[in-house]
Amino acid sequence: MPIRVLSDELASRIAAGEVIERPASVVKELVENSLDAKSTRVDVLIGGGGAKSITVIDNGQGIPAEEFPTAFERFATSKIDESSDLISIGTLGFRGEALPSIGSVARVEAISKHCGQEIGARYVVDCGIAGIVEPAAVPQGTRIQVSGLFTNVPVRLKFLGSANREFSRVHKILASFALIYPYVAFTLSADGRERFHTEGSGNLIDAVSGIYGANIAEQMLQVELDDTATFSVDGLVSSPSLTRSNRTYITLAVNGRAIQSRRLTYAIEQAYHGFLPARRFPVVIARIRTPLDDVDANVHPAKAQVRFLREDLVYSVVQRAIRGVLSVSSPVHRLGASRSAGSKGLLRPVGKQADFIEVDRLGIPDSTATSNTQAGYSMWPGSIVQRESSSQHSTAVSKQNPDSSTIKDTLPILRVVGQVHQTYIAAEGPNGVYLIDQHAAHERITFEELKRWFNNNSTESQPLLEPNLIDLAPGAMTTVQEHFDELNRIGWGFEEFGGNSLIVRNIPAPLAVRAGSDGIGQIIMNVLDSLSAGGDGESWLERMLASTACHSSVRAGQTLSIDECKGLILQLEGASQPDTCPHGRPTIVQLTINDLEREFKRR
Ligand code: ADP
Ligand code: MG
Repeated sequence: MPIRVLSDELASRIAAGEVIERPASVVKELVENSLDAKSTRVDVLIGGGGAKSITVIDNGQGIPAEEFPTAFERFATSKIDESSDLISIGTLGFRGEALPSIGSVARVEAISKHCGQEIGARYVVDCGIAGIVEPAAVPQGTRIQVSGLFTNVPVRLKFLGSANREFSRVHKILASFALIYPYVAFTLSADGRERFHTEGSGNLIDAVSGIYGANIAEQMLQVELDDTATFSVDGLVSSPSLTRSNRTYITLAVNGRAIQSRRLTYAIEQAYHGFLPARRFPVVIARIRTPLDDVDANVHPAKAQVRFLREDLVYSVVQRAIRGVLSVSSPVHRLGASRSAGSKGLLRPVGKQADFIEVDRLGIPDSTATSNTQAGYSMWPGSIVQRESSSQHSTAVSKQNPDSSTIKDTLPILRVVGQVHQTYIAAEGPNGVYLIDQHAAHERITFEELKRWFNNNSTESQPLLEPNLIDLAPGAMTTVQEHFDELNRIGWGFEEFGGNSLIVRNIPAPLAVRAGSDGIGQIIMNVLDSLSAGGDGESWLERMLASTACHSSVRAGQTLSIDECKGLILQLEGASQPDTCPHGRPTIVQLTINDLEREFKRR
């Protein structure tokens, strides 16, 4: 065939393939138009998963009657002109492709009244064939109904999933709009049944409640916008007790545009590192603000991805903001919280109970009284408590202690009652009974200590009486070689012996307390396993430290004296993230006075 320019009609249909892939893409484009038109209310009605019909009704500025035909032409837009730079785009749309694309693959009926006009208009485009503009008496705003999507592109139709599947994609897209635009009231209904609505109150927590339900909304923590920064983020993030099994509850927006970004999602997961168990994911709504000319929105046909000029800066702003919120709130998991769905205050930010610090620190030694950091080492590595002193009652609580502010911000003041099942420490606190998992708690303490050593280059290493010869699993030697310096830095001392064996001469000091020299082989295997388990940078280091901490920590099933229990809790109080172990499991759970009273039917 000779080379020819394609007809407009065919060109549109080809272009439509890029923009309009399925019902959810239609909804996305139409709702973007509604938002660009400054609507405060958007109703979306879906029939047959969207293939049958999609209707979007808004109360925005409307389309002037005489502009209807132009609106459906390719590359026709009111949002940019020749003088605009494509760099700083403040609207969601800008390409002028959506209406013509949809009009070329479906029947579109558009009815609208522009805010500056007396009467509205109606216009139909049926698979690329336009009708005429007719007057219509309608309220201000726009109603666009799309029916018979892809009837003229059977290939596309074949690629659509079931009505349910397509609807769930629509649901997801509209939910993310509702979360990003809390001051717009959204409704979504399918085949005449409402699926969700949001109030449009402007309050993000209300939007979360409309989309995910009140129970989730109650467990969200606020990320506050830093007005003064040019790059900032606000939104809501779930507290660590609320987790999901996949990433679909992570909503990201940049300057009002919903985006997908694996790297940004990863940055968020990293912010939760240590707070969540493996393979669990948070609920996050992160609304990022950057200067407009710092993002290129014109890199993806459906505008689902953007390019950042200063990518790393954006990631670190997001990560730091979320991490900050999580570290401050540091909640204690309340027992039975998961079964009492809907009850208020599932999470107790125990940090706020400063009054108790004055009242009672029964049995917990005053940490200012003990300055000798080395002395308590034998049982709890790096302990700031001499165990002999722990029987002292101290009432005046460490006002002078610079750490006391962080202590009271994180854990409540606890009085040890005893050990249960050689596994848990039972304690009494300001609001009920607390149980501490001795292994998890000690893991957390050792983990943070190893990390400090590592960061300060202040390794404490213990020579083994007899060097230990270890045969490594195939491939493990490469891991050792790759991470030789880091392993060294936390106290491992070994040399290669032949192709596949190691001679271990030194081990991290905390390990020396726990492990007999014959256990060393198993431990180093586990540490190496954790190293080869996955990727990159910070995370492998944390895995290595966590794994080393695990083996250095007191086990379940080990009897502890009351004093040892006290020492452990005191150290846990000093940890920066006391409520979870390095793997994200809780270290401490709480049964509140209310819970007790309810269970015992006292009220
Ligand atoms: P773009 O959004 O990229 O400008 P579209 O094809 O989506 O292109 O829309 C074309 C034009 O039609 C828009 O620029 C806008 O002026 C107008 N328009 C579309 N939908 C609406 C709406 N719901 N309310 C007001 N104007 C609209
Ligand atoms: Mg548009």
